[in-house]
Amino acid sequence: MPKDFLQGARDHYDCIVIGSGLAGLTAANTLARTGQSVLLLEQHYKLGGMATWFKRPGGHIFDISLHGFPVGMIKSCRRYWTQEIADSIVQLKNIRFDNPMFSLTTTFNREDFTRLLVEKFQVSAERVQAFFDTARGMNFYDDQSTTAGELFERFFPGREDIIRLLMEPITYANGSTLEDPAISYGIVFSNFMSKGVFTFEGGTDRLIHLMHEELLRSGVDVRIKCDVQRILVNRGRVAGVQVNGRTIGARAVISNANLKSTVLKMIGPEHFDRSFLDEAEAVRLNNSSCQVYMALRPGEMLDESLGDLLFSSTAPLFRTDLLLSRDVTSRTYSFYYPRTRPGSDRCLVVSSTNARYEDWAGLSDEAYEDSKRDLVESTLEALGRYIPDIRQKLDHAEASTPRTFRHYTRHLQGASFGTKFEGLAVSRALPEQIAGLYHAGSVGIIMSGWLGAMNYGVIVANDVDSWLMKSNRQTPLATAT
Ligand SMILES: Cc1cc2nc3c(=O)[nH]c(=O)nc-3n(C[C@H](O)[C@H](O)[C@H](O)COP(=O)(O)OP(=O)(O)OC[C@H]3O[C@@H](n4cnc5c(N)ncnc54)[C@H](O)[C@@H]3O)c2cc1C
Repeated sequence: MPKDFLQGARDHYDCIVIGSGLAGLTAANTLARTGQSVLLLEQHYKLGGMATWFKRPGGHIFDISLHGFPVGMIKSCRRYWTQEIADSIVQLKNIRFDNPMFSLTTTFNREDFTRLLVEKFQVSAERVQAFFDTARGMNFYDDQSTTAGELFERFFPGREDIIRLLMEPITYANGSTLEDPAISYGIVFSNFMSKGVFTFEGGTDRLIHLMHEELLRSGVDVRIKCDVQRILVNRGRVAGVQVNGRTIGARAVISNANLKSTVLKMIGPEHFDRSFLDEAEAVRLNNSSCQVYMALRPGEMLDESLGDLLFSSTAPLFRTDLLLSRDVTSRTYSFYYPRTRPGSDRCLVVSSTNARYEDWAGLSDEAYEDSKRDLVESTLEALGRYIPDIRQKLDHAEASTPRTFRHYTRHLQGASFGTKFEGLAVSRALPEQIAGLYHAGSVGIIMSGWLGAMNYGVIVANDVDSWLMKSNRQTPLATAT
């Protein structure tokens, strides 16, 4: 008999959360703390979504998306999770850039960027201050027609080198480009500039383990290997879900799955207005990524002067299409020293590159394996520039592609950061279409990344809590049929 992953689950909950990415986890925890009954359903055998890790023989543990987030994570983790989680967040102090235009090391905060822009890039202090103030002053209600490229042109006309310094890390951090609205750049850039780049000490496995413990303390019913097939709707109201052959009822459902698959597959077009569907169909997905994971032999050390994060490129200019091309010219290396996992003797390197799903999707199995091998080889070649004896030190190397991310998280086209800007309005409008139906997860660039996803989970949990309180008073339950 196959194992029943829903054994003991109730027939009805106040809210069902589909997906255990950081937004889903945080929404479930926040809502359960208000006293609502919550069922969390994850299709994979691990919680975390993109916030994940994997192990390989020899005791190597690789983190997938633990490269850096803004200081705001400390406050969010303290408020919505635990003091222990917040206390494990530490700063990465050495961020490096190396490209044909410049090489530099920075702590990646406003003070140090001001110094660099004034001393190295010869911009007046007044102009730098005006730029920072404009970026920090941006909010969602601002003019959304100005692009990031136009913002840079206004403050630093013709300065391709400055655009590269300011844009390259943010493209890496949330997939935004020069063609995206300036606000999606400004908010994320300002978040980082407030204090720099931070990481979680102990690795993603420790973070997700601590979160799982806290979910159980909050009373969330957590279930893995539960693949939700459909979200059920009854007379314009959400009624529950179909999962692993069972129907489970709920007053509210929060989907943390990809926004487009939530609307178009799990619910189905017949439940929406035509104009909403048009908007949902037009939402663009964000790009995906390739990564190469490299573990050094036990006890082999890396020189910490390599930095924590290195934005490396051989392309003469910063261009979106070059960043996405399979002919890779830009790589961001994360160097993990033993201090990442206190007590370990391991050093690891993860190289990340933005990528397009379609470049990998159609390959035959053989061509796909060959391409992954090429990616590993060309990455080792490129890394040799910074660690000349990398091949002698190496114990294990392998690659992931957009297909890998799609496989493990079900994101359409393996999108690493959900959707482009317009996804946010569609995500927010869901409950106007179907009462009790919500989405929380990477959308609109701003609500993506570890901090954005987590904070979006809180915003949506609060909406759901208010709605549940109101609907409890006003209307009878819809039945899950
Ligand atoms: C290579 C890479 C590097 C990154 N680096 C960083 C970084 O350095 N800093 C940073 O802040 N962010 C980074 N990110 C982005 C960040 O990891 C994500 O934005 C964030 O973790 C997404 O969280 P989420 O809540 O949107 O959900 P996701 O992580 O997308 O999770 C969604 C979950 O829903 C589940 N699911 C889907 N469909 C179903 C279904 N039908 N039934 C049940 N479950 C379902 C999936 O299995 C998954 O667990 C990176 C992402 C990638 C891919």
